[in-house]
Amino acid sequence: MADLSRKPDSPSPPGTEPLPKVSYPEFLRGQPAIVTGANSGIGEAVAIGLARAGCDVAVNYVTHPETAEDVAHKIEGYGRKAMVVKADVSKEDEVETMFKTVIGQFGTLHVSVSNAGLQKDSAFLEMTLAEWETVIGINLTGQFLCQRAAAREFLRRGVVEDISVAAGKMICMSSVHQTIPWAGHVNYASSKGGIKLLMESMAQELAPHRIRVNGIAPGAIRTPINTAAWNTKEAYSELMTLVPYKRIGEPDDIAQAAAWLASDHADYVTGTTLFVDGGMTLYPGFAQGG
Ligand code: NAD
Repeated sequence: MADLSRKPDSPSPPGTEPLPKVSYPEFLRGQPAIVTGANSGIGEAVAIGLARAGCDVAVNYVTHPETAEDVAHKIEGYGRKAMVVKADVSKEDEVETMFKTVIGQFGTLHVSVSNAGLQKDSAFLEMTLAEWETVIGINLTGQFLCQRAAAREFLRRGVVEDISVAAGKMICMSSVHQTIPWAGHVNYASSKGGIKLLMESMAQELAPHRIRVNGIAPGAIRTPINTAAWNTKEAYSELMTLVPYKRIGEPDDIAQAAAWLASDHADYVTGTTLFVDGGMTLYPGFAQGG
């Protein structure tokens, strides 16, 4: 397997702390996966990480098909099958068609990562209903629709012993803001708080069917969603006051967590949120007294 040490794609951005050299055990061979919002940032890294761990991967996108094709080519570069599939995750008919298409092409699914998300920031008093509904519709309802479609396929097929001891693995991309309140972002924080209990309730309901459901709560990860928080020296220093581990997260930090959660190495893990945040949720303000 290629030993690809992680390097940020962007040219010399602030934050040059050493990154771990990581490889991926091929513990997901024969397990087709779908990743939503997989043509950018964390979703792209997760799609590629799952491919490196052995999955054929469906790359969902809603805009910019060319970047989805790029991700698919990278997946094929690891010797896996890839397909690109367009759907707005907040639209039930598009999600249903997407899952039908992917299952038709791959034969089944074993891993579903609901990752698509966005921010539409506004002070609470100024926030419009449209800003609220857009974020809840994509970040929360989108995860409900996609994971419901995935769970139906996992249940239909059941456990295939040579492939995995679980009937399916669902991963919900949440955020540290499922627990940290965020003024100026009430729609986003509410969507992530909702994902926490959506994930836990699905996990409780589906565990007897040997379907595992977990969340990942990223801290500050270097992606287009938060460029302003890391692309200047000043912004990066300010960001580091919130990160005890003193480096920004890279998308591959999340991909590693997703691959492990999807694997049988995590078989007794369900209904849990894995915080991948360099300690952001450790109340860094209390490090000096309090
Ligand atoms: P990003 O903007 O790079 O990627 C978001 C992806 O979601 C894009 O591919 C976008 O096209 C897609 N998307 C948006 N609306 C969609 C829709 N209606 N249907 C389908 N796809 C849609 O941002 P990212 O940082 O990679 O974010 C990925 C996930 O990680 C999000 O759920 C985000 O909330 C979460 N997250 C990110 C961070 C971070 O620091 N980057 C931190 C915590 C959580």
